[in-house]
Amino acid sequence: MTPDELRENLLMAPKNGFARLSAGERAEMEAYCKRYMAFMDQAKTEREATDWAVREAEKRGFKPFAVGMTAKPGDKIYYNNRGKSIALAVIGTESLAGGANICAAHVDSPRMDLKPNPLYEDSEIAYFKTHYYGGIKKYQWVTIPLAIHGVVCRKDGSCVTVTIGEDENDPVLMVSDLLIHLSADQMQKTAAKVIAGEQLNVILGTEPLEGEGSDMVKLNMMKLLNEKYGLIEADFQTAELVVVPAGRCREVGLDRSLIGAYGHDDRVCAYAELEALFTMPQPAKTAVCILADKEEIGSVGISGMQSHFFEHFMGTLCAAQGVNLEDCFAASFCLSADVSNAFDPNFPDTCDKRNNSALNYGVSICKYTGSRGKGGASDASAEAMSHIRQTFDGNGVIWQLATLGKVDQGGGGTVAAYMANRNIVTVDAGVPVLSMHAPVELVSKLDCYETMLACKAVYLA
Ligand code: MN
Ligand code: MN
Repeated sequence: MTPDELRENLLMAPKNGFARLSAGERAEMEAYCKRYMAFMDQAKTEREATDWAVREAEKRGFKPFAVGMTAKPGDKIYYNNRGKSIALAVIGTESLAGGANICAAHVDSPRMDLKPNPLYEDSEIAYFKTHYYGGIKKYQWVTIPLAIHGVVCRKDGSCVTVTIGEDENDPVLMVSDLLIHLSADQMQKTAAKVIAGEQLNVILGTEPLEGEGSDMVKLNMMKLLNEKYGLIEADFQTAELVVVPAGRCREVGLDRSLIGAYGHDDRVCAYAELEALFTMPQPAKTAVCILADKEEIGSVGISGMQSHFFEHFMGTLCAAQGVNLEDCFAASFCLSADVSNAFDPNFPDTCDKRNNSALNYGVSICKYTGSRGKGGASDASAEAMSHIRQTFDGNGVIWQLATLGKVDQGGGGTVAAYMANRNIVTVDAGVPVLSMHAPVELVSKLDCYETMLACKAVYLA
């Protein structure tokens, strides 16, 4: 054979996904991304994503989980975990003894949470004190429009949903930064310290009520919140209010090939899982979709992926079929659907380009995450990687490989390790992202669409 023939037969030749999509697929990709963007505008927190999933699932005949329920082929069931995470299942024609096909994403994103006693006044400006959640570069969160989302439970136990800053007639909120003119000292600080955690104080307002007192601006803010939501200051102690970037998802680029939004990590995979589940035909194996909370702080707590809510859900389904849960887990497969870092030519030295995902090359499979010598990674086996390769190739999914940056540059994790701990074969795969964890992150439409196809292929494998 000639070298050209040998090259074609023996070597990999990655191709940009746009060279591989048909006109029909491109049209489907655009339509899919419109639906994804509409979801993103309604789901900026784990609570909102869970609510959205419940609403859409009920429209499609999913029934709420109940102890003692049946699990017959074609049954559609969801487990709403206290409004903050959700698992959904479409029961397969085969027994759960043969395992389930699971896709697991997370719906929490980095943000600023209000402290339990957040409201104060300083120099006749009213503020909310915050505590950041997840991994953020704090300096990115100043001087951008912010919104407040969440729930407050009042003295009588009734809870009210709060959203301020998203309607176009709403005001937005903001954290200030120091003017450059007086930043001689600040500019000498390292990026981690340019803005301190205790400086992420959100400006609420400046107009005092008429009268005497050193708290007239604070009092005015409390009056406004009382008029709109019936709140008193003590109610903040029984609240979950979070501060996120205000505004809608936007197409980015002259060609509109990218999407800019807050919280693609990991709602871009969560949406892919949901749409795949809602639009696929009856599966042979039971298909399970998980939207977990608390991934950004270690998958901890009652709504995180380490929580036994998952065992409660799967154990009940298995019991309905007379199947041992451990037997089901041992035979199951899980796609840990989470984002990866897209190669950024602005920061080439942080990655090994030969082993990094790239925009528009499709869903990216990450054999391992972790840091240093793979610490904390769920390192997928050759056999697990082969299974996912066969599954994607067999369904025409455009995919690529990813690692998280160059060796010793940093690292990260996903829910993969917690699924693998359950004796479930698990592989990470998801959408490559630019500016991950920034207030606005970028993804390519093509990669979003391929990730939905990837989830569908996993459910139907
Ligand atoms: Mn993630
Ligand atoms: Mn993340």
